[in-house]
Amino acid sequence: MKAMVMTGVGGVNKLEYRSVDNPVPKKDEALVKVLYCGINHLDLLIRLGKRSGPKQFPHILGSEIAGELSSGEIVAVYPWIFCGKCEQCKSGNEQMCNSGGTVGRNAWGGYAEYVAVPKRNLITISKQIAQKASAIILAGTTAHHLVRRGNIQDKATVLVTGATGGVGTLVIQLLKLKKCTVICATSHEKKISLLRKLGADRVVLVERMVEEVNYAIDLVGGDTWSKAVQTLGKNGTFTFCSTSKEEIGRLDIGNAFAKQLNILGSTGGNREDLQAVLQLVQKGVIKPVINAVFSLEDAKKAHERMEKQEVFGKMLLKV
Ligand SMILES: [Zn+2]
Repeated sequence: MKAMVMTGVGGVNKLEYRSVDNPVPKKDEALVKVLYCGINHLDLLIRLGKRSGPKQFPHILGSEIAGELSSGEIVAVYPWIFCGKCEQCKSGNEQMCNSGGTVGRNAWGGYAEYVAVPKRNLITISKQIAQKASAIILAGTTAHHLVRRGNIQDKATVLVTGATGGVGTLVIQLLKLKKCTVICATSHEKKISLLRKLGADRVVLVERMVEEVNYAIDLVGGDTWSKAVQTLGKNGTFTFCSTSKEEIGRLDIGNAFAKQLNILGSTGGNREDLQAVLQLVQKGVIKPVINAVFSLEDAKKAHERMEKQEVFGKMLLKV
C-alpha cells in the first residue's frame, strides 16, 4: 500500500511517501481502508519529538480515521487503544487505559491506504459524514468529555478560554446546544470577532476577566489557567485540558477552599463521547470547521502549513 511514513524524529523531511507492506490485522483487529484522516497538531509534535511517540521506524502517523471495512461498512476509529479489562477501562475511562496507547502514536495510523485497528475501536457511521467525522475524532471526543466531566447544566453561564482552537470551537457548539450563555476570554483583540462568529455571547479580554461564573473551561493553561480559576463563584466548577504535561498554573488554595471549588482535569474522552459527538454531526447540529483537504501525497504540505502559521479549522487527508 501507499503511505506517508515517518522515518524518524525531526523536520518535515522525515515524512516520506512510499510503498510499505499492508498491515496484517491480528485476531481481534480489523483492516480499515482509510477514506479520510484528520491532521492533528499532535502529529506535528510527535514528528518533532515534542511528544512521546513510536519506538520504531518507519512509523505511520494519523489518529483521526474514517474508513471502510471489506464488508462495505463505514466506520470511525476511536483513537485510544484500550484493553477493556483494567480499572480505568471498566470505569469508562478507556482513554486512560493502564496498558493503552493511541492509534498513530504508538501504533500505525491513518496516513496510509490501510490501517489495522482493534475491532472494539470501530464505530459505524453513515458514508455522508465520513469526512466530517475525521475532522472531530480527537477534538470532538475531548470537547464532549470536557462538558460532560464539568457536569455543566443547561442554560448555565460558562466562561471558556482558548476557544478558537479545535477543541474550543466544538466546546462552544456543545454549550450552545445546552442553551448556555457562553463568555469567551481571549488575550488577542483580533480574535474577538472570530469568537463572536463561533457563537460566543460575549467576549472579554483575559486580563479583564472578573465575572463570577459557576462554570469555567480552560483550554490554554499557564497564566490563563490561573486567572480563569479566579473567575469562579462559590461552588464553581473548573474543567480544563492542558496541552502538555509540563504546564504550570498557580492556584490560590485558600480561595479555592473558601469557595469550595471543583477543579477537574479532563483527558481526552471515552468511546461513548466519540459516539455521542458523531451522532450530533450526523444530525447536523455540530459542524466541524474544515480548512483544507489534501491528498495523502501532500501530507507534507499540510504539516508545513501547520508549522508555519496558526491554521484556523481542520486540515484533512483524503486517501
Ligand atoms: Zn484498560
